[in-house]
Amino acid sequence: MYSGGFYPFETPEEHWAWWSRHIMVNRYQRAPGPVYEDLRRLVEGREYFVLTTNVDHQFQLAGFDKARLFYTQGDYGLWQCSRPCHQGTYDNETTVRRMWAEQRDMRVSTELLPRCPRCGAPMTMNLRSDDTFVQDAGWYRARERYQDFLARQEGRAVLYLELGVGLNTPGIIKYNFWEQVLRNPRARYVCVNQGQAYAPRELGERSLCLDGDIGAVLREFV
Ligand SMILES: [Zn+2]
Repeated sequence: MYSGGFYPFETPEEHWAWWSRHIMVNRYQRAPGPVYEDLRRLVEGREYFVLTTNVDHQFQLAGFDKARLFYTQGDYGLWQCSRPCHQGTYDNETTVRRMWAEQRDMRVSTELLPRCPRCGAPMTMNLRSDDTFVQDAGWYRARERYQDFLARQEGRAVLYLELGVGLNTPGIIKYNFWEQVLRNPRARYVCVNQGQAYAPRELGERSLCLDGDIGAVLREFV
């Protein structure tokens, strides 16, 4: 599904037929399995914060506190101007549901093609893939809350739990966590990853690497 997002469809009608299905499955329907619920139960009653590169809204659907989430890379539920002519995002649910329900022969009708309300350019997904990504006011507020959280944890016993972070965008979570733990002797780093569980030697005994399925690992603790 991820690779499909880069496919050069011949027409915008076909493009949005594919994208509306992708958005429905990944954003408006709940992920199967108890992984997110298990994680929420683990953090409930604790002072937590979620930093994620996921764009599928599953943390919100599983009941995580919205004020404790920073989804850095966008949201399948939002559109933005493709130019972009302004730094705003738009909820796409109503149109996406219509595109999904009404498409025929792998095409949506031309009247459903989303256009920027300000300049009329085609709308595009609010997903970070290059420097046209729109960071709206909500994005900056979430970043500020994450930075406040980090400031409050300075020198305190805090667990940096990294789940399934690869080397696609390691600068956002992985390197950030290593840096926080290196600076704070009371902090701990736990990395759960199937096939790529490792930590820098400098973290020594303050790190724990679990090579395995995230769902199975979390089950052990709930
Ligand atoms: Zn525009």
